[in-house]
Amino acid sequence: METIQVRDRSFAPFLSAEEIQTRVAELGAKISAELQGKRPLFLAVLSGSFIFAADLLRAISIPCEIAFIRVSSYEGTGSTGQVKQLMGLKEDIAGRTVVVVEDIIDSGLTMKELLGILVEKNPAEVKIASLLVKPGNMQVELDIPYRCFDIPNDFIVGYGLDYDGEGRNLPAIYKVTE
Ligand code: 5GP
Ligand code: MG
Repeated sequence: METIQVRDRSFAPFLSAEEIQTRVAELGAKISAELQGKRPLFLAVLSGSFIFAADLLRAISIPCEIAFIRVSSYEGTGSTGQVKQLMGLKEDIAGRTVVVVEDIIDSGLTMKELLGILVEKNPAEVKIASLLVKPGNMQVELDIPYRCFDIPNDFIVGYGLDYDGEGRNLPAIYKVTE
């Protein structure tokens, strides 16, 4: 793999398509074993997780469902500032095993807010599956039982993740060069 250009930045190879596929298959097998008999509902967080979710779901060998949600920010009316809003969830998750599927967990703030909103809907349990985790940036306590790679704090692109809208189509993952 070679250094590539996305918009005005150059990116160096970081994780090959083969490495990603291997880890996603392993994670799918692990989730299938652990959630056997629970008919999990996977909630893929758009847009970044769409490719990971598509590959992960094909590695799940137990009965399951998938739905797509979006977390958007809007300005709070008072001094609260930015508040996250959950969009697109039509399924009743009460009593269900829910697996939130994310592309990357960085500060963890997005996931923390999303979990808070989901828990109010009384699911049996909520598990987090994230392709990538940046432990060095984490600002909140999160249990992330299903993860493919822990990575350094560099900005990355590819396999669903974008740089200013571009790069999601890349089959491998690249990190920005200085
Ligand atoms: P958090 O709330 O965990 O800080 O934010 C997570 C979100 O930030 C991700 O869903 C993603 O949209 C964005 N993000 C964080 N790090 C990266 C990165 O290295 N590359 C890209 N493309 N997006 C990132
Ligand atoms: Mg995301």
